[in-house]
Parts: sequence; C-alpha cells; structure tokens
Amino acid sequence: MKTIGLIGGMSWESTAHYYTELNQGIKKALGGLHSAQILLYSVDFGPIEKLQSKGDWESLGEIMVDAAQKLEKSGADFLLICTNTMHKLAGLVEHSVNIPLLHIADATAQVLVHDKIKKTGLLGTAYTMEQAFYKDRLIEKFDLDVIIPDEKDRESVHRIIYDELCQGQIRTQSKKVYVNIANRLIEKGARAIILGCTEIGMLLKPEDIDIPLYDTTKIHAAKAIEWALKYE
Ligand code: GLU
Repeated sequence: MKTIGLIGGMSWESTAHYYTELNQGIKKALGGLHSAQILLYSVDFGPIEKLQSKGDWESLGEIMVDAAQKLEKSGADFLLICTNTMHKLAGLVEHSVNIPLLHIADATAQVLVHDKIKKTGLLGTAYTMEQAFYKDRLIEKFDLDVIIPDEKDRESVHRIIYDELCQGQIRTQSKKVYVNIANRLIEKGARAIILGCTEIGMLLKPEDIDIPLYDTTKIHAAKAIEWALKYE
C-alpha cells in the first residue's frame, strides 16, 4: 500500500473527515485490521485565512510548498491538498516535489463525466466559485458547464464556510440558506451540485436536495484509496 501525504488543517474539521474516509475506505477494500498509511501535515488555519483574505498567495505558496516537501521527504508516495481553495496553488506545489498531486477538481470532474452530467452547480468559497483556477479547469479540461450562485448568494456561502463550518458549527438556519441557494442553481438548469469546499458536506446532505451532490471530500478520499492500492 502506498503512503498518502495530506496537506491538511484547512480546516481541521474537514481534515478529520479525510482521515475517517481514508481509513474506512482501506478497511473496506482490504478488510480486518487494515487501515490507511497516512502522513499528515496539518497547518494552523488562522494565519492561512488571513493571508487568503489579504490576497497574499505568494506567502501561502511558500507554506504549501514547505508542507509538500516535508511530506515528500518523510516518505509520502503522493499528495492531497485537503481543501479546494488552496488548489489555487496546485501547480506550484506540483512543481516543487517529485511525487504526484491528486487534484481535487480532477477527481470530482471525472466522476461527473462518468455519470454523464454536464451542467453542474458549484458551491465553495468565493475564491473557488469566482476564480479561474477551479471553474476553468472543470470547463476546459472536462467540458463541464458550471453554474455558480449570484453575488449575494456567493457571499452567504462564503461567510458560512469561514464563520461557521470551518469552526465546527452546523446551524439549521444555514442549512436552509444553502438549500435555497442550491434550489436556485437547479432552477438555472443544474443537474448536480459540486460541494466544492471540503466542509460543506458537514451541512448539506444528499437528502436535502433533489439532485445529486458531489462531495469533493468523499470523492477526493475515494480516489486517494484507489491510488494507494494501485499496485497492490
Ligand atoms: N476547506 C475549504 C475548501 O475546500 C475552505 C477553507 C480554505 O480556505 O482552504 O475550499
């Protein structure tokens, strides 16, 4: 089994889900007492969030590269960045190490393509919903048709991620807000919704919405299990 290197802590709430998903997946595949071989580099998310909102992606890049190189040196066979947003730096991270990076948007898009879904809604942080690094990858590399919420809804989705979900708070009122936003994406023609933030699955569940939800945390972890067992 290969060793999975996780750049986590963004937030630790979702990294805890990665840890569970990876171990459950390996146990399911290999049975008995088997569990995933994991190296985790978990950052302090406080300063990370401040650098994000200042737009200091250069400093963030240095932190991500340092984490990636430490994981490589420690024996990780491949890397996962356990957040959609920080995939803005995926190219930089990829070029700083000699081990592969499992890209969260690629893993997710491959499942959508497999399921023959083209028109999909995208929920995530403002960076993920608005910037090219994520949306354009889905559109250009996988030919998906991506719909994002309007500005006011994007602000609500973003605020709830940082003020609540990343701090472990799951509120019924916020779930309603997300359900309404998802329903507006459905009205615009979405046939699926990408939960493009690794915490959203803590709030929004498949039974809340009439169309399929593609939870990037679960999909990313499932693909990592495949990679870990590839040469078994
Ligand atoms: N975990 C979140 C994501 O998937 C947001 C936290 C972050 O800014 O990294 O985008």
